[in-house]
Amino acid sequence: MSKQQPSAMPWFETANPIPRNRKTVTVIGAGISGCTVAAALKKRGFNVTVVDRHNHAGAEASGNPEGIVYPKLSPRDDLLPRVNLAAIQFASHYYQPFWDSGLGRQCGVLVVPENEKARRDFKLISERYADQTEMVKTIAHGQLEALSGVPLQAESALYFPQLGWLPPQLICEQLLKLNDIPLVQADIHSLEYSEQQQSWQLLDANKQLVIETESAIIASAFDCKKFSQTAYLPLRKIRGQITQLPCTPESSKMKMVVCGECYITPAEEGLHGCGATYNKDLFTTELRDIDHQTNLAQIAATDAGLAAVLGNPTNEKLTGRANFRCTTSDYLPIAGPVPDRGAMLEDYAKLRRDAKTPMTTLGAYLPNLYVNCGMGSRGLSYAPLTAELLAAEIAGEKTILNDTLPEELCQAMHPVRFLIRDLKRNRI
Ligand SMILES: Cc1cc2nc3c(=O)[nH]c(=O)nc-3n(C[C@H](O)[C@H](O)[C@H](O)COP(=O)(O)OP(=O)(O)OC[C@H]3O[C@@H](n4cnc5c(N)ncnc54)[C@H](O)[C@@H]3O)c2cc1C
Repeated sequence: MSKQQPSAMPWFETANPIPRNRKTVTVIGAGISGCTVAAALKKRGFNVTVVDRHNHAGAEASGNPEGIVYPKLSPRDDLLPRVNLAAIQFASHYYQPFWDSGLGRQCGVLVVPENEKARRDFKLISERYADQTEMVKTIAHGQLEALSGVPLQAESALYFPQLGWLPPQLICEQLLKLNDIPLVQADIHSLEYSEQQQSWQLLDANKQLVIETESAIIASAFDCKKFSQTAYLPLRKIRGQITQLPCTPESSKMKMVVCGECYITPAEEGLHGCGATYNKDLFTTELRDIDHQTNLAQIAATDAGLAAVLGNPTNEKLTGRANFRCTTSDYLPIAGPVPDRGAMLEDYAKLRRDAKTPMTTLGAYLPNLYVNCGMGSRGLSYAPLTAELLAAEIAGEKTILNDTLPEELCQAMHPVRFLIRDLKRNRI
């Protein structure tokens, strides 16, 4: 059993603090989650390697030609919109050098309400964030066309001037290149801890050693479930397809991203990007015409004025890309140390009988093993922040994020939350 200390939620504290002399880190996964955390650690002086089963970064979910830094605010004080606000504020600064160098565009994001409830919520959101107009402001119908460049029919919309779109695949590549981080191509099948070497061994399908590393970060999206240490995480794999459609003379005047039932980007090299579909029971990356049609229908449902300027492109004119999101049951990402599940189930067994049992045992964690995944549909928004959170934790900078990310928001993204929740519900 671990040592004792009073705390309302002792599972968030580790009974086995990280030795600070560990400077060699390997990240499994070269998507936006892996590349952002690799860069954040490299900047702190760590010796970082990224491993991916592909020979280049951003080959799976993070491989789309464009992705939106997408806001999801709420009039309520829930954890999800609070994390989202912290994330988009952080991301808008984080991506500034990329936008300045011509990757993507900080063109602003306009969100139109999808229904009557969203309309009411938007009003409350603009009241709630009235003192943060640099982040979000309400635009009345009369100003929408002048601002967006297209004759939107919405009554009003929320405008996020500091956000925009980015090419995720290029961002992943740039993060590795600019920070001089090597990418090793290997499909990792398991991780084993060597007590003797005090290191993690990353093994391939033949149990051959690929890399030995002091610390490891699992950033392999849904494939976190492949590793015994993170198999318990409640992740889902959700297919999505984007559609790229040709611009028309009217639609080429569009100045910013418009979001509603879907998103659509301003034209770039003659094409608008639009997406995306959601399919939870389909596991192919082949493009489907039916999904292109769904995306077009979602544009029409977002705003009839927008659909009108885009015309009716035929299927032959549409291109796109399909891949898989990795979502969590509470829609928040997962970033933090990997719990020692067996020890935690034993240490906190009393929670099964009474969720309010006062506990004093600190959390048991696997040595120097971390996870960064579950970005859902908002990897571009969340990854810079979760990367900073993880890198600060690994480097022992306990207070760095306090202003941006209060402790309860860190806890909302902590990997142990699912174990404790399920114990309290007597489900495990
Ligand atoms: C159609 C679509 C549209 C989207 N639009 C947006 C958007 O507009 N804005 C937004 O913010 N988000 C969007 N998303 C979500 C976003 O793409 C994801 O949240 C994000 O890319 C997740 O990044 P990741 O690094 O966690 O996962 P990934 O990018 O999937 O990276 C995981 C990496 O791990 C590697 N890997 C996995 N297992 C192993 C293994 N065993 N060994 C070695 N390597 C391994 C994979 O090869 C992959 O490169 C969209 C997603 C889809 C599918």
